[in-house]
Amino acid sequence: MNNNMQEADNFEYLLEQFGDIKIMRYTVPGFETLEINQKRLLYFLSEAALCGRDILFHQNYKYNLVLRKTLEAIYNGYTGNRGEAEFAEFVVYLKKIWFANGIHHHYSSDKFVPEFSLAYYHELLNNTPARFFPTTAVLSLDQIKELTADVIFNKELAPFKKYQNDTDDLLRQSAVNFYEGVSQKEAEAFYDAFKNDDDHTPISFGLNSRLTKKDGIITEETYKIGGLYTEAIEKIVYWLKQAVEVAENETQQQVLQLLIRYYQTGDLKTWDAYNIMWLQDLHSLIDVVNGFIETYEDPLGIKGTWESVVNFKNLEATKRTDIISANAQWFEDHSPVDPRFKKKEVRGVSAKVIYAVQLGGDCFPSTPIGINLPNADWIRAQYGSKSVTIENITYAHHQASLGSGMLEEFAFSEEEQRLAKTYGFIADNLHTDLHECLGHGSGQLLPGVSPDVLKNYHSPLEEARADLFALYYMMDPKLVELGILPCEEAAKAEYNSYIRNGMMTQLVRIEQGKTIEQAHMRCRSLIAHWVFEKGAKNKVIEQVEKEGKTFFVINDHRALRTLFGALLKEVQRIKSEGDYAACKQLVEQYGVQIDARLHAETLERFKKLNIAPFGGFVNPKLEAVVEDGVITDVLISYPDNYTLQMLEYSADYSFLPIKL
Ligand code: ZN
Repeated sequence: MNNNMQEADNFEYLLEQFGDIKIMRYTVPGFETLEINQKRLLYFLSEAALCGRDILFHQNYKYNLVLRKTLEAIYNGYTGNRGEAEFAEFVVYLKKIWFANGIHHHYSSDKFVPEFSLAYYHELLNNTPARFFPTTAVLSLDQIKELTADVIFNKELAPFKKYQNDTDDLLRQSAVNFYEGVSQKEAEAFYDAFKNDDDHTPISFGLNSRLTKKDGIITEETYKIGGLYTEAIEKIVYWLKQAVEVAENETQQQVLQLLIRYYQTGDLKTWDAYNIMWLQDLHSLIDVVNGFIETYEDPLGIKGTWESVVNFKNLEATKRTDIISANAQWFEDHSPVDPRFKKKEVRGVSAKVIYAVQLGGDCFPSTPIGINLPNADWIRAQYGSKSVTIENITYAHHQASLGSGMLEEFAFSEEEQRLAKTYGFIADNLHTDLHECLGHGSGQLLPGVSPDVLKNYHSPLEEARADLFALYYMMDPKLVELGILPCEEAAKAEYNSYIRNGMMTQLVRIEQGKTIEQAHMRCRSLIAHWVFEKGAKNKVIEQVEKEGKTFFVINDHRALRTLFGALLKEVQRIKSEGDYAACKQLVEQYGVQIDARLHAETLERFKKLNIAPFGGFVNPKLEAVVEDGVITDVLISYPDNYTLQMLEYSADYSFLPIKL
């Protein structure tokens, strides 16, 4: 925590709650004192970050945009009674769709179930003047009304965004819009045909396109200027070009130019060149992530969703990650992993602590707290990766959680609470640093092994690998010696919270009767249950009942560290060898199933606290002060109304036409 943040402590971080979502906001310490060119650069990049919002809606499901625009038309134009309870339910439904960038829950991937009736929906439609509705050449207004009613109320239609359990065809059961009329087998065969074992610098095949079958022929529709999503991409490029003009240095200028060329051509070789150049840009204060990047939403792990994070370096806190980076080789050499699976030479692990200035696409409103890019394995092996911890986001989470009662309810003892309150913030941040900066960057695949072979189990296993690396080192005396962890007690605080979360508290995000779907949650469950089982004989972790409540108590933190190390060794082996059977077994056995009784108890205890289990953010608003055509200052403010921000974004940054 630094002084800038402490000054903002009377700031209202938590804005509102609806459904299982809480909306917060974050501050950007030090923005006002940046130089004018830095402010201009952040402003242009922020505009670019907002221009891709509709792309993500359309990627998540083909009818998301037409539905969102129709619901917004009702919100803006409905002439009936807006004070009714059912209208409030309609508004909650719309807020959820804004939050998830579509009709499926951002975490569980299930379609939202509205708390208003079909009859009421018709009443809303019939009492909204026609001029408010979206217009399109492909659908009449009546067809729009019919289609949207079907999308909302037909339970058979697109029930899951991303289906990830064992099935004969993941694509048929997933609503995502990366494939149209193509089966899983066809899609896999299409991309396998490009792969060549002798190619040591393969492009990320299929990352930036939609795969469709027309008249029996499979083709790619590439996301680029002149291609799919051109209307939004043209705007992104417009702002990136402004950014080039005020870049901090030549390297950053070249990075942005490569990104522009990639958007103009859709050429994935240019995307690789951009990423390699981006990795050289280490000395700029300002940085940006902008593109089709993470493949979590594609059940086949091929297609990238659009996202952006505009940020600048927190120089003070970056001293911490500099120390971690400088010692990266030591960590690699001393890990419990089999020497065959270790990197002989850890290259270019660069890590920094940043302040987010603007979040867009798949990073908004639900936001990561750390990022490690690029994703291409060969680029990471040859050029390293950039890793960030977004500390104004973790700080806002921390501030918003104070006084929620969660810790008091699920921590076993006062001592456990004391450790969490004293060291929780710093220990969590350090865990994120280690996860992003060392964990994902560690280890290597055996020659000839492709990361794709782990398929739908790759993501949870990869997250587990990074978490285990962090957990294993959290308790290493080296951290205290390096001056980045105050004492061993801080590591204990992290172990306590990790086990609480993996065994119990994360279950608050799942409905009774369901299993764990999301990759990070599967990862945490897998780790916690594995070490619980393996340490049972020696009571490393004990399940304790107190006044009818269940707690998980760590009796021996050092023995737990050894177990984390043992699991890290096995998880790295699975990844390095591409052992699909072992990967599936590990994830299915420890990461997916939930003890029904424990789940019910957790939900019951959580319900009494009245806290939403998921959180996201409203963005700061940047406004350019223009005098004689020149931006002379950029003002930052922190809006406190989520609905207004969503409506503003839909009005000002909606560029894609409605297509079917
Ligand atoms: Zn990760």
